[in-house]
Amino acid sequence: MMWAIILHGGAKEIEPEEAEAHRHGCLKALAAGRSVLQSNGSAADAVEAAIRELESDPTFNAGYGSALNADGEVEMCSALMEGGELNVGGVSIIQGVRHPISVARAMLHETEILLSGPGARRFAAERGLELCDPADLIPPKEQKAKQTGTHDTVGCIALDMSKRLAVGTSTGGLDGSPVGRVGDSPQPGCGYYVDDKVGAVAFSGDGEHIARKMLAARVMHRLSADEPEGALQDALDHVAAIGGEAGGIVLTPAGEFGWRHNSRDFAVAFQNSDRDSPEAFTRKGDAS
Ligand code: ASP
Repeated sequence: MMWAIILHGGAKEIEPEEAEAHRHGCLKALAAGRSVLQSNGSAADAVEAAIRELESDPTFNAGYGSALNADGEVEMCSALMEGGELNVGGVSIIQGVRHPISVARAMLHETEILLSGPGARRFAAERGLELCDPADLIPPKEQKAKQTGTHDTVGCIALDMSKRLAVGTSTGGLDGSPVGRVGDSPQPGCGYYVDDKVGAVAFSGDGEHIARKMLAARVMHRLSADEPEGALQDALDHVAAIGGEAGGIVLTPAGEFGWRHNSRDFAVAFQNSDRDSPEAFTRKGDAS
């Protein structure tokens, strides 16, 4: 029985002195997701566990250490989707929760697929999820300096031993965005999608460009006929044609990985049950 997991820490520029923090953060998150899969847990649980790690690490623009909007506040978006019954849970512009991915996870079996702002936080409170002062998600200056670039949504895809796929995204959005702005990350077919019969995809990058080109939907339509990287490259060509920058990861039901980006860097880590150790890169062509 096989399992597989791939995750990313954002399509952006990673300065050489930041590379190790990205690599370490991605590997730590991968280990959290992997241990769920190895103990026969569900793909959705693995994605949640991995993204919670990334949300706790201020190296990444998700949860603690998220980008600040035009008012200097953190507003976050997140989604989780399961590829069997196409359950979707999402939150947007949520404030004052530690782990937006866990709120998205809790939404999976609700009728609604996306809650925003105070309604999303109220849902989190009703479900007993961890709340915090919105300002507590802003790290002290020394840690904040670790962040470079503006696209660093995180994403993860897992395939569990029961052949179920799940995908998740989590982001603080883009630096200095207008209050209330929502990008691609919580929108199915834009920043992510999964179908157990076809595969799964998650993107990071210029959210408006990604949404205008329905990037995840584009990959899904090609995946049944194309290799993961061919499908991703086609999507990146489309987003580049309107001036956008992005990076994406793919996992197929057979456990094939794909990752591509037109950003300078893209922190990625992946592993499956056939590999003894994980691989991690901060851009295509780097040594593991
Ligand atoms: N795609 C995200 C957004 O537009 C940003 C990112 O990837 O960092 O909200």
